[in-house]
Amino acid sequence: MSAMLEVKGLRILARVRNREIPLVRGLDFELPEAGTLGLVGESGSGKTVICLALLGLLPRKQIRVEAEVLRFAGHDLLRLSPSAWRRLRGRDIAMVFQDPMTSLNPLMRCGEQVAEVIRVHQGKDRKQARLIALELLEQMGLPETERRYRQYPFELSGGMRQRVMIAAALSCRPKLLIADEPTTALDVTLQAQILELIRQRRSRDGMALLLITHDLAVARENVEKLLVLYAGGAVEKGEAARVLEAPRHPYTMGLLQSLPPWSGRMHRLLAIEGVVPHPADSVPGCRFHPRCAFAGERCRREVPEWVGVSGRVSACHFADQLSAPEGRR
Ligand code: SF4
Repeated sequence: MSAMLEVKGLRILARVRNREIPLVRGLDFELPEAGTLGLVGESGSGKTVICLALLGLLPRKQIRVEAEVLRFAGHDLLRLSPSAWRRLRGRDIAMVFQDPMTSLNPLMRCGEQVAEVIRVHQGKDRKQARLIALELLEQMGLPETERRYRQYPFELSGGMRQRVMIAAALSCRPKLLIADEPTTALDVTLQAQILELIRQRRSRDGMALLLITHDLAVARENVEKLLVLYAGGAVEKGEAARVLEAPRHPYTMGLLQSLPPWSGRMHRLLAIEGVVPHPADSVPGCRFHPRCAFAGERCRREVPEWVGVSGRVSACHFADQLSAPEGRR
């Protein structure tokens, strides 16, 4: 069976003063119906720009998107007209952002924002859309739903606004939800509640989830497959549990060592030294080599190929010789 979302050879280039700067450098991944995939990496790794490309929201004059294949549910996303994009967004692909204030209209009542999506995409009249929106807000666990429906975004807490945004995103039962750091700004309890709401809707409606996060603990709990991004390219991908329990790329290992262990065993938290290179900077060989503790002469010369190691693949010359950091197994 073909994948619902198929991405092959994705390149995203920013046009800056007669130059094209690669923001994403050739990426392949797939997402089956009802599947889950996490994109993880530091800021500057290209996570958000990939999502915006999947939603057709990048400015065409400044940014060029090219790919061998970029297909969603039978649609070639490279050839969609603006009106076809509008039909697809919100109805088949929905997105949840980290900050609800960036996607909620501050001048419109919260409930009406959910009802409007239902009217536009489901063709319901005002009364029907209102009833569906109220039901949805209740399912999102919003207390005093009628009152919240009439309130403006600034009158709600951050967690409540996030629920309103998720209700709007899920209101048309999308085939794919793209969630970009959906819970980063929330406290741990709210974070767990919101991720649970998304999980419930996934199992009820068979919706696929593309979760963008820098938080490996969140990825571990919520996705089956993982793709680790560094400086616009993938460095490790495979089963989330395999990648996180026994990573085979020094960058994934570094991300894990900067987190408290989930096993409860203590280890020293270590930051990855240095910074992600600027997209315009040319780095010969492995793009991670200036920050890698394992780098050798070959790493400075040769771009690593994918190496398969039980359940995942790693773009490291020495993937089959590396072992998981202590305290992670
Ligand atoms: Fe480090 Fe070399 Fe592997 Fe790159 S190829 S991650 S520099 S060991």
